[in-house]
Amino acid sequence: MKILKFGGTSVGSVENLHRVREILTADQEDKIVVCSAMSGVTDQLLRLVENIKYGDAEAVTRNLHKLESKHYDVIDQLIEEQGVKNTLKDGVSAIITEMFEISSQEYSETVNSKIVTYGETLLTYIFSGFLNAINITNVLLDAKEFMYVDAVDNPNINKVAKKLTKILEDNIQSKIYITQGFVCRDEAGQISHLKRGGSDYTATIIGSALDASEVQIWTDIDGLHNNDPRYVDQTHPIAHLTYNEAAELAYFGAKILHPQTVSPVVGKDIPVLLKNTFDPEAPGTVISNKTYKKGLKAISAKDGITAIKIKSNRMLMAHGYLRRIFEVFDNFNTSIDMITTSEIAISLTIDNTSNLDEIVKEIQGYAEVTVEQEHSIICIVGESVINDKNSYRLFEILNYIPVRMVSYGGSNNNISILVDTKDKIPTLRFLNEKLFQIQEGVVA
Ligand code: ASP
Ligand code: MG
Repeated sequence: MKILKFGGTSVGSVENLHRVREILTADQEDKIVVCSAMSGVTDQLLRLVENIKYGDAEAVTRNLHKLESKHYDVIDQLIEEQGVKNTLKDGVSAIITEMFEISSQEYSETVNSKIVTYGETLLTYIFSGFLNAINITNVLLDAKEFMYVDAVDNPNINKVAKKLTKILEDNIQSKIYITQGFVCRDEAGQISHLKRGGSDYTATIIGSALDASEVQIWTDIDGLHNNDPRYVDQTHPIAHLTYNEAAELAYFGAKILHPQTVSPVVGKDIPVLLKNTFDPEAPGTVISNKTYKKGLKAISAKDGITAIKIKSNRMLMAHGYLRRIFEVFDNFNTSIDMITTSEIAISLTIDNTSNLDEIVKEIQGYAEVTVEQEHSIICIVGESVINDKNSYRLFEILNYIPVRMVSYGGSNNNISILVDTKDKIPTLRFLNEKLFQIQEGVVA
Protein backbone atom coordinates (compact mmCIF):
# COMPACT_ATOMS: atom_id res chain seq x y z
CA MET A 1 0.00 0.00 0.00
CA LYS A 2 1.27 3.45 -0.78
CA ILE A 3 -0.12 6.84 0.14
CA LEU A 4 -0.42 9.66 -2.40
CA LYS A 5 -1.28 13.18 -1.35
CA PHE A 6 -2.39 15.84 -3.81
CA GLY A 7 -2.27 19.49 -2.82
CA GLY A 8 -4.65 22.36 -3.58
CA THR A 9 -3.14 23.24 -6.96
CA SER A 10 -3.03 19.61 -8.08
CA VAL A 11 -6.79 19.33 -7.49
CA GLY A 12 -7.48 22.98 -8.23
CA SER A 13 -8.90 22.71 -11.74
CA VAL A 14 -10.60 20.20 -13.99
CA GLU A 15 -7.50 19.96 -16.15
CA ASN A 16 -5.39 19.15 -13.12
CA LEU A 17 -7.86 16.60 -11.79
CA HIS A 18 -7.34 14.76 -15.07
CA ARG A 19 -3.60 14.82 -14.44
CA VAL A 20 -4.21 13.31 -11.00
CA ARG A 21 -6.36 10.61 -12.56
CA GLU A 22 -3.50 9.70 -14.89
CA ILE A 23 -1.04 9.50 -12.02
CA LEU A 24 -3.37 7.25 -10.03
CA THR A 25 -3.80 4.81 -12.87
CA ALA A 26 -0.15 4.73 -13.92
CA ASP A 27 0.53 1.67 -11.76
CA GLN A 28 -1.38 -1.13 -10.12
CA GLU A 29 -0.27 -0.84 -6.52
CA ASP A 30 -3.00 -0.32 -3.88
CA LYS A 31 -3.25 3.31 -2.82
CA ILE A 32 -4.79 5.65 -0.35
CA VAL A 33 -5.20 9.05 -1.95
CA VAL A 34 -5.29 12.05 0.36
CA CYS A 35 -6.65 15.25 -1.19
CA SER A 36 -6.59 18.88 -0.13
CA ALA A 37 -9.37 21.30 -0.90
CA MET A 38 -9.24 23.02 -4.31
CA SER A 39 -6.79 25.92 -4.10
CA GLY A 40 -8.38 29.01 -2.59
CA VAL A 41 -11.30 27.13 -1.04
CA THR A 42 -9.89 26.88 2.50
CA ASP A 43 -9.26 30.65 2.45
CA GLN A 44 -12.85 31.12 1.33
CA LEU A 45 -14.03 28.95 4.21
CA LEU A 46 -11.97 30.95 6.69
CA ARG A 47 -13.83 34.06 5.50
CA LEU A 48 -17.09 32.19 5.96
CA VAL A 49 -16.07 31.41 9.54
CA GLU A 50 -15.60 35.16 10.10
CA ASN A 51 -19.12 35.75 8.75
CA ILE A 52 -20.48 33.18 11.18
CA LYS A 53 -18.54 34.69 14.06
CA TYR A 54 -19.96 38.15 13.39
CA GLY A 55 -23.48 36.88 12.70
CA ASP A 56 -23.47 38.18 9.12
CA ALA A 57 -26.19 35.86 7.76
CA GLU A 58 -26.31 37.56 4.39
CA ALA A 59 -22.59 37.04 3.79
CA VAL A 60 -22.90 33.42 4.97
CA THR A 61 -25.59 32.78 2.36
CA ARG A 62 -23.65 34.57 -0.36
CA ASN A 63 -20.44 32.68 0.36
CA LEU A 64 -22.13 29.29 0.57
CA HIS A 65 -23.81 29.86 -2.77
CA LYS A 66 -20.49 30.86 -4.26
CA LEU A 67 -18.93 27.66 -2.96
CA GLU A 68 -21.79 25.60 -4.33
CA SER A 69 -21.58 27.08 -7.80
CA LYS A 70 -17.78 26.68 -7.87
CA HIS A 71 -18.15 22.96 -7.22
CA TYR A 72 -21.14 22.65 -9.60
CA ASP A 73 -18.94 24.12 -12.32
CA VAL A 74 -16.31 21.48 -11.67
CA ILE A 75 -18.93 18.74 -11.96
CA ASP A 76 -20.24 20.24 -15.19
CA GLN A 77 -16.82 20.27 -16.78
CA LEU A 78 -15.59 16.98 -15.36
CA ILE A 79 -18.55 14.67 -15.90
CA GLU A 80 -20.12 13.80 -19.22
CA GLU A 81 -23.15 11.74 -18.32
CA GLN A 82 -26.15 13.83 -17.28
CA GLY A 83 -27.38 11.25 -14.72
CA VAL A 84 -24.03 11.24 -12.91
CA LYS A 85 -23.89 15.03 -13.06
CA ASN A 86 -27.27 15.26 -11.35
CA THR A 87 -26.38 12.74 -8.67
CA LEU A 88 -23.14 14.50 -7.83
CA LYS A 89 -24.82 17.91 -7.79
CA ASP A 90 -27.45 16.55 -5.40
CA GLY A 91 -24.61 15.30 -3.19
CA VAL A 92 -22.87 18.69 -3.24
CA SER A 93 -26.15 20.41 -2.50
CA ALA A 94 -26.69 18.11 0.52
CA ILE A 95 -23.20 19.01 1.79
CA ILE A 96 -23.96 22.72 1.38
CA THR A 97 -27.22 22.25 3.31
CA GLU A 98 -25.22 20.70 6.15
CA MET A 99 -22.94 23.71 6.05
CA PHE A 100 -25.91 26.09 6.25
CA GLU A 101 -27.10 24.22 9.30
CA ILE A 102 -23.69 24.42 11.01
CA SER A 103 -23.38 28.10 10.07
CA SER A 104 -26.55 28.88 12.00
CA GLN A 105 -25.12 27.42 15.21
CA GLU A 106 -23.45 29.58 17.78
CA TYR A 107 -19.78 30.12 16.91
CA SER A 108 -17.30 27.78 18.63
CA GLU A 109 -13.94 26.16 17.87
CA THR A 110 -15.79 23.07 16.71
CA VAL A 111 -17.99 25.08 14.36
CA ASN A 112 -14.81 26.65 13.00
CA SER A 113 -13.15 23.27 12.41
CA LYS A 114 -16.26 21.74 10.89
CA ILE A 115 -16.57 24.58 8.40
CA VAL A 116 -12.93 24.96 7.37
CA THR A 117 -12.57 21.26 6.60
CA TYR A 118 -15.49 21.14 4.17
CA GLY A 119 -13.26 22.07 1.22
CA GLU A 120 -11.69 18.62 1.44
CA THR A 121 -15.12 17.00 1.88
CA LEU A 122 -16.48 18.62 -1.28
CA LEU A 123 -13.47 17.91 -3.45
CA THR A 124 -13.05 14.26 -2.45
CA TYR A 125 -16.75 13.64 -2.91
CA ILE A 126 -16.67 14.95 -6.47
CA PHE A 127 -13.35 13.37 -7.41
CA SER A 128 -14.32 9.95 -6.10
CA GLY A 129 -17.65 10.15 -7.95
CA PHE A 130 -15.90 11.18 -11.14
CA LEU A 131 -13.43 8.27 -11.01
CA ASN A 132 -16.20 5.77 -10.34
CA ALA A 133 -18.18 7.19 -13.25
CA ILE A 134 -15.31 6.42 -15.63
CA ASN A 135 -14.81 2.95 -14.13
CA ILE A 136 -11.81 3.73 -11.98
CA THR A 137 -13.35 1.97 -9.04
CA ASN A 138 -12.52 3.53 -5.70
CA VAL A 139 -13.89 3.84 -2.19
CA LEU A 140 -14.36 7.20 -0.48
CA LEU A 141 -13.26 7.07 3.15
CA ASP A 142 -14.38 9.64 5.74
CA ALA A 143 -11.21 10.78 7.50
CA LYS A 144 -13.31 11.84 10.51
CA GLU A 145 -13.82 8.15 11.23
CA PHE A 146 -10.15 7.36 11.75
CA MET A 147 -7.91 10.46 11.90
CA TYR A 148 -7.32 10.95 15.62
CA VAL A 149 -4.83 13.65 16.55
CA ASP A 150 -4.80 14.28 20.29
CA ALA A 151 -3.25 17.72 20.28
CA VAL A 152 -2.27 19.66 17.19
CA ASP A 153 1.05 17.94 16.79
CA ASN A 154 0.33 14.65 18.45
CA PRO A 155 -1.27 12.04 16.22
CA ASN A 156 -2.56 8.94 17.93
CA ILE A 157 -1.01 6.57 15.41
CA ASN A 158 -2.18 3.40 17.20
CA LYS A 159 -5.76 4.55 17.19
CA VAL A 160 -5.57 5.63 13.56
CA ALA A 161 -4.07 2.23 12.70
CA LYS A 162 -6.80 0.31 14.52
CA LYS A 163 -9.69 2.33 13.12
CA LEU A 164 -8.38 2.51 9.58
CA THR A 165 -7.45 -1.17 9.37
CA LYS A 166 -10.95 -2.08 10.49
CA ILE A 167 -12.51 0.32 7.97
CA LEU A 168 -10.40 -1.15 5.16
CA GLU A 169 -11.39 -4.68 6.18
CA ASP A 170 -15.09 -3.77 6.35
CA ASN A 171 -15.15 -1.97 3.03
CA ILE A 172 -15.35 -3.57 -0.34
CA GLN A 173 -11.81 -4.25 -1.39
CA SER A 174 -10.48 -1.63 -3.71
CA LYS A 175 -7.20 -0.69 -5.27
CA ILE A 176 -7.88 2.99 -4.68
CA TYR A 177 -9.22 4.66 -1.54
CA ILE A 178 -9.80 8.39 -1.46
CA THR A 179 -9.87 10.48 1.69
CA GLN A 180 -9.61 14.02 3.01
CA GLY A 181 -6.51 15.72 4.34
CA PHE A 182 -6.52 18.37 7.06
CA VAL A 183 -9.54 17.22 9.08
CA CYS A 184 -9.13 15.23 12.30
CA ARG A 185 -10.71 14.47 15.65
CA ASP A 186 -9.13 15.61 18.88
CA GLU A 187 -8.69 13.65 22.08
CA ALA A 188 -12.28 14.31 23.12
CA GLY A 189 -13.53 13.10 19.73
CA GLN A 190 -14.51 16.60 18.56
CA ILE A 191 -13.92 17.55 14.95
CA SER A 192 -10.74 19.55 14.65
CA HIS A 193 -8.19 20.35 11.99
CA LEU A 194 -4.47 20.33 11.43
CA LYS A 195 -2.46 23.47 10.79
CA ARG A 196 -2.65 25.09 7.35
CA GLY A 197 -1.13 22.86 4.69
CA GLY A 198 -1.69 19.91 7.03
CA SER A 199 -2.79 17.42 4.40
CA ASP A 200 0.87 16.44 3.96
CA TYR A 201 0.80 15.48 7.61
CA THR A 202 -2.45 13.52 7.15
CA ALA A 203 -0.66 11.49 4.47
CA THR A 204 2.32 10.54 6.63
CA ILE A 205 0.10 9.76 9.64
CA ILE A 206 -1.80 7.31 7.43
CA GLY A 207 1.49 6.03 6.00
CA SER A 208 2.80 5.33 9.45
CA ALA A 209 -0.45 3.78 10.68
CA LEU A 210 -0.57 1.34 7.76
CA ASP A 211 3.18 0.73 7.43
CA ALA A 212 2.94 1.96 3.86
CA SER A 213 5.72 1.25 1.37
CA GLU A 214 6.04 4.97 0.68
CA VAL A 215 4.27 8.32 0.94
CA GLN A 216 4.17 10.54 -2.14
CA ILE A 217 3.42 14.23 -1.80
CA TRP A 218 2.34 15.65 -5.17
CA THR A 219 2.59 19.41 -5.58
CA ASP A 220 3.31 21.95 -8.30
CA ILE A 221 7.12 21.86 -8.18
CA ASP A 222 9.64 19.15 -8.98
CA GLY A 223 10.85 18.54 -5.42
CA LEU A 224 12.45 20.57 -2.69
CA HIS A 225 14.91 23.07 -4.14
CA ASN A 226 18.27 24.09 -2.75
CA ASN A 227 17.04 27.68 -2.39
CA ASP A 228 13.77 29.52 -2.72
CA PRO A 229 12.96 29.55 -6.47
CA ARG A 230 10.60 32.52 -5.98
CA TYR A 231 13.54 34.77 -5.18
CA VAL A 232 16.64 33.10 -6.52
CA ASP A 233 17.47 32.09 -10.08
CA GLN A 234 19.30 28.87 -10.83
CA THR A 235 17.97 26.75 -8.00
CA HIS A 236 17.75 23.01 -8.49
CA PRO A 237 15.73 20.19 -6.93
CA ILE A 238 17.57 18.11 -4.35
CA ALA A 239 17.49 14.41 -5.18
CA HIS A 240 17.88 13.07 -1.63
CA LEU A 241 17.32 14.50 1.82
CA THR A 242 17.43 12.88 5.22
CA TYR A 243 14.41 13.20 7.50
CA ASN A 244 16.38 15.65 9.66
CA GLU A 245 17.26 17.86 6.74
CA ALA A 246 13.70 17.86 5.44
CA ALA A 247 12.28 18.63 8.89
CA GLU A 248 14.63 21.59 9.36
CA LEU A 249 13.89 22.96 5.91
CA ALA A 250 10.14 22.56 6.32
CA TYR A 251 10.18 24.18 9.72
CA PHE A 252 12.35 27.03 8.54
CA GLY A 253 10.24 28.06 5.64
CA ALA A 254 10.35 25.60 2.74
CA LYS A 255 6.73 26.05 1.68
CA ILE A 256 6.49 22.80 -0.22
CA LEU A 257 6.27 20.70 2.94
CA HIS A 258 4.22 21.10 6.12
CA PRO A 259 6.71 21.24 9.05
CA GLN A 260 5.43 18.13 10.82
CA THR A 261 5.23 16.00 7.72
CA VAL A 262 8.15 13.67 8.23
CA SER A 263 7.80 13.03 11.96
CA PRO A 264 5.24 10.16 11.79
CA VAL A 265 7.35 8.11 9.36
CA VAL A 266 10.88 8.69 10.66
CA GLY A 267 10.88 5.78 13.12
CA LYS A 268 9.53 3.42 10.48
CA ASP A 269 11.85 4.53 7.71
CA ILE A 270 9.05 4.97 5.21
CA PRO A 271 10.36 7.14 2.37
CA VAL A 272 8.55 10.37 1.52
CA LEU A 273 8.72 11.38 -2.14
CA LEU A 274 8.05 14.94 -3.25
CA LYS A 275 6.68 14.81 -6.78
CA ASN A 276 5.40 17.24 -9.39
CA THR A 277 1.85 16.73 -10.70
CA PHE A 278 2.79 18.81 -13.76
CA ASP A 279 5.88 16.76 -14.54
CA PRO A 280 5.31 13.26 -13.14
CA GLU A 281 8.45 11.86 -14.77
CA ALA A 282 10.75 14.25 -12.92
CA PRO A 283 12.53 12.40 -10.10
CA GLY A 284 11.59 14.94 -7.42
CA THR A 285 13.04 14.59 -3.93
CA VAL A 286 13.28 11.41 -1.87
CA ILE A 287 13.33 11.89 1.90
CA SER A 288 14.56 8.92 3.90
CA ASN A 289 17.01 7.78 6.57
CA LYS A 290 19.85 7.45 4.11
CA THR A 291 22.58 10.05 3.87
CA TYR A 292 23.80 10.09 0.29
CA LYS A 293 25.93 13.18 0.62
CA LYS A 294 27.11 15.15 3.60
CA GLY A 295 27.53 18.88 3.77
CA LEU A 296 25.55 21.80 2.50
CA LYS A 297 22.22 20.96 0.86
CA ALA A 298 19.79 23.84 0.95
CA ILE A 299 18.85 27.27 2.19
CA SER A 300 15.41 28.36 3.30
CA ALA A 301 13.86 31.42 4.89
CA LYS A 302 11.13 31.85 7.44
CA ASP A 303 9.41 35.24 7.72
CA GLY A 304 7.34 36.79 10.46
CA ILE A 305 10.03 36.43 13.08
CA THR A 306 10.19 38.67 16.14
CA ALA A 307 13.52 39.18 17.89
CA ILE A 308 13.48 39.95 21.60
CA LYS A 309 16.55 41.24 23.41
CA ILE A 310 16.57 40.87 27.17
CA LYS A 311 19.29 42.74 29.01
CA SER A 312 20.05 42.89 32.69
CA ASN A 313 23.14 43.48 34.76
CA ARG A 314 21.74 40.99 37.21
CA MET A 315 22.60 38.28 34.68
CA LEU A 316 26.28 38.87 35.32
CA MET A 317 27.66 35.75 37.00
CA ALA A 318 24.16 34.74 38.10
CA HIS A 319 22.74 31.29 37.61
CA GLY A 320 19.11 30.40 37.06
CA TYR A 321 18.54 33.50 34.99
CA LEU A 322 17.87 31.72 31.72
CA ARG A 323 15.50 29.31 33.41
CA ARG A 324 13.53 32.26 34.72
CA ILE A 325 13.25 33.77 31.24
CA PHE A 326 12.37 30.53 29.49
CA GLU A 327 9.68 29.85 32.06
CA VAL A 328 7.88 33.01 31.02
CA PHE A 329 7.76 31.86 27.39
CA ASP A 330 6.71 28.41 28.50
CA ASN A 331 3.88 29.79 30.64
CA PHE A 332 2.57 31.64 27.62
CA ASN A 333 2.86 28.59 25.32
CA THR A 334 5.31 30.39 23.08
CA SER A 335 8.13 28.43 21.56
CA ILE A 336 11.53 29.91 20.91
CA ASP A 337 13.43 29.31 17.66
CA MET A 338 16.86 30.96 17.87
CA ILE A 339 18.89 32.00 20.89
CA THR A 340 22.16 33.86 21.34
CA THR A 341 23.59 35.03 24.61
CA SER A 342 26.22 37.36 26.00
CA GLU A 343 27.11 37.70 29.63
CA ILE A 344 24.45 40.31 30.37
CA ALA A 345 21.96 39.84 27.57
CA ILE A 346 20.07 37.21 25.68
CA SER A 347 18.44 37.57 22.28
CA LEU A 348 15.86 35.11 21.14
CA THR A 349 13.25 34.79 18.43
CA ILE A 350 9.63 33.73 18.36
CA ASP A 351 7.15 33.43 15.51
CA ASN A 352 3.94 33.36 17.52
CA THR A 353 3.33 36.84 18.91
CA SER A 354 -0.16 36.26 20.29
CA ASN A 355 1.11 36.59 23.87
CA LEU A 356 3.97 38.97 23.18
CA ASP A 357 2.63 41.88 25.25
CA GLU A 358 2.16 39.74 28.34
CA ILE A 359 5.59 38.15 27.94
CA VAL A 360 7.30 41.52 27.60
CA LYS A 361 5.40 42.96 30.55
CA GLU A 362 6.44 40.11 32.79
CA ILE A 363 10.13 40.19 31.84
CA GLN A 364 10.23 43.97 32.15
CA GLY A 365 9.76 43.39 35.85
CA TYR A 366 13.45 42.52 36.10
CA ALA A 367 15.14 43.29 32.76
CA GLU A 368 15.26 45.71 29.89
CA VAL A 369 13.39 44.33 26.88
CA THR A 370 13.67 45.40 23.22
CA VAL A 371 11.38 43.96 20.58
CA GLU A 372 12.15 44.02 16.85
CA GLN A 373 9.59 42.69 14.39
CA GLU A 374 9.64 41.84 10.67
CA HIS A 375 12.71 39.65 10.75
CA SER A 376 13.49 36.48 8.82
CA ILE A 377 15.47 33.41 9.79
CA ILE A 378 17.69 32.18 6.99
CA CYS A 379 18.54 28.58 7.56
CA ILE A 380 21.42 26.71 5.94
CA VAL A 381 20.86 22.99 6.13
CA GLY A 382 22.70 19.75 5.42
CA GLU A 383 23.97 16.73 7.38
CA SER A 384 27.23 17.93 8.93
CA VAL A 385 26.90 21.33 7.27
CA ILE A 386 29.13 22.88 9.90
CA ASN A 387 31.95 20.69 8.61
CA ASP A 388 31.39 21.62 4.98
CA LYS A 389 34.57 23.20 3.67
CA ASN A 390 32.61 25.98 2.00
CA SER A 391 30.45 26.98 4.97
CA TYR A 392 32.89 29.67 6.06
CA ARG A 393 31.87 31.70 3.03
CA LEU A 394 28.57 32.29 4.68
CA PHE A 395 30.21 34.72 7.08
CA GLU A 396 31.28 36.96 4.21
CA ILE A 397 27.71 38.14 4.37
CA LEU A 398 28.67 40.24 7.36
CA ASN A 399 30.40 42.56 4.89
CA TYR A 400 27.17 43.34 3.09
CA ILE A 401 24.12 42.78 5.22
CA PRO A 402 23.43 43.66 8.84
CA VAL A 403 23.01 40.30 10.53
CA ARG A 404 21.05 40.47 13.77
CA MET A 405 21.82 37.00 15.18
CA VAL A 406 23.81 33.89 14.25
CA SER A 407 23.21 30.40 15.53
CA TYR A 408 26.05 28.02 14.78
CA GLY A 409 26.78 24.61 16.24
CA GLY A 410 23.42 24.08 17.94
CA SER A 411 23.27 21.06 15.69
CA ASN A 412 25.73 19.87 13.07
CA ASN A 413 23.04 20.11 10.47
CA ASN A 414 21.87 23.68 10.64
CA ILE A 415 23.33 27.17 10.66
CA SER A 416 20.81 29.97 11.08
CA ILE A 417 21.11 33.69 10.72
CA LEU A 418 18.55 36.35 11.51
CA VAL A 419 18.16 39.36 9.23
CA ASP A 420 15.66 42.14 8.75
CA THR A 421 13.00 40.84 6.33
CA LYS A 422 13.81 43.65 3.91
CA ASP A 423 17.26 42.05 3.54
CA LYS A 424 15.93 38.53 3.03
CA ILE A 425 16.06 38.37 -0.76
CA PRO A 426 19.58 39.86 -1.07
CA THR A 427 20.68 37.44 1.65
CA LEU A 428 19.24 34.42 -0.16
CA ARG A 429 20.86 35.53 -3.43
CA PHE A 430 24.19 36.26 -1.83
CA LEU A 431 24.26 32.90 -0.08
CA ASN A 432 23.25 31.11 -3.24
CA GLU A 433 26.18 32.61 -5.03
CA LYS A 434 28.69 32.07 -2.24
CA LEU A 435 27.62 28.63 -1.14
CA PHE A 436 26.38 26.96 -4.30
CA GLN A 437 27.38 28.72 -7.47
CA ILE A 438 31.03 29.25 -6.62
CA GLN A 439 31.29 25.58 -5.69
CA GLU A 440 29.60 24.54 -8.87
CA GLY A 441 31.75 26.84 -10.93
CA VAL A 442 28.81 28.91 -12.17
CA VAL A 443 30.40 32.07 -10.92
CA ALA A 444 34.11 32.53 -11.46
N1 ASP B 1 -6.78 22.79 2.68
C1 ASP B 1 -5.91 23.01 3.80
C2 ASP B 1 -5.11 24.29 3.61
O1 ASP B 1 -5.30 24.99 2.63
C3 ASP B 1 -5.01 21.86 4.06
C4 ASP B 1 -4.02 21.57 2.96
O2 ASP B 1 -4.19 22.04 1.85
O3 ASP B 1 -3.08 20.84 3.21
O4 ASP B 1 -4.34 24.64 4.46
MG1 MG C 1 0.96 22.03 0.82
